[in-house]
Amino acid sequence: MSAHVVDSFEFCRSAGQASGSTPVAEFKRLCVDLADVGGELRWSFEGGLHPEGDPQLVMDVSGTVKLVCQRCMALFDHSLHAHATLVLAADDERADEAESRLDDDDIDVIVGSKAMDLLMLVEDEALLSLPLSPRHEVCPGPVQEVQKEKPESPFAVLKNLKS
Ligand SMILES: [Zn+2]
Repeated sequence: MSAHVVDSFEFCRSAGQASGSTPVAEFKRLCVDLADVGGELRWSFEGGLHPEGDPQLVMDVSGTVKLVCQRCMALFDHSLHAHATLVLAADDERADEAESRLDDDDIDVIVGSKAMDLLMLVEDEALLSLPLSPRHEVCPGPVQEVQKEKPESPFAVLKNLKS
């Protein structure tokens, strides 16, 4: 069991703080989507109360992960920065209630637990922040995208042969 399991409600009530660095290789679900499992993720949590009185966790996750560019198929470093405010509810029903009462897109309401694995939250957040279609801003090498340019006309081919 992870060493980062906390009573999430108590963590918020006592304004708990936790932070650390964890090798990317330990996040098994995340690794499935990565081209290479090197590096680590830095993370931090701050427990507290939402202005409305609900327990909340403020989470930061950052690090560099390796993805494969979908345009040129080369590896590239994706720097990951995620910030989330999680409001804790005691159960699904109260989560729905808090969701509509707070009505804030920047907040995620989750069902808290007395044995909540902080690293699982880190992994969820990292997964959510991965680009759906990773690619370089500008590819450094030749592009190998599957969709080919339209085929060269036979005349152009002849012209190239002559020159
Ligand atoms: Zn590329």
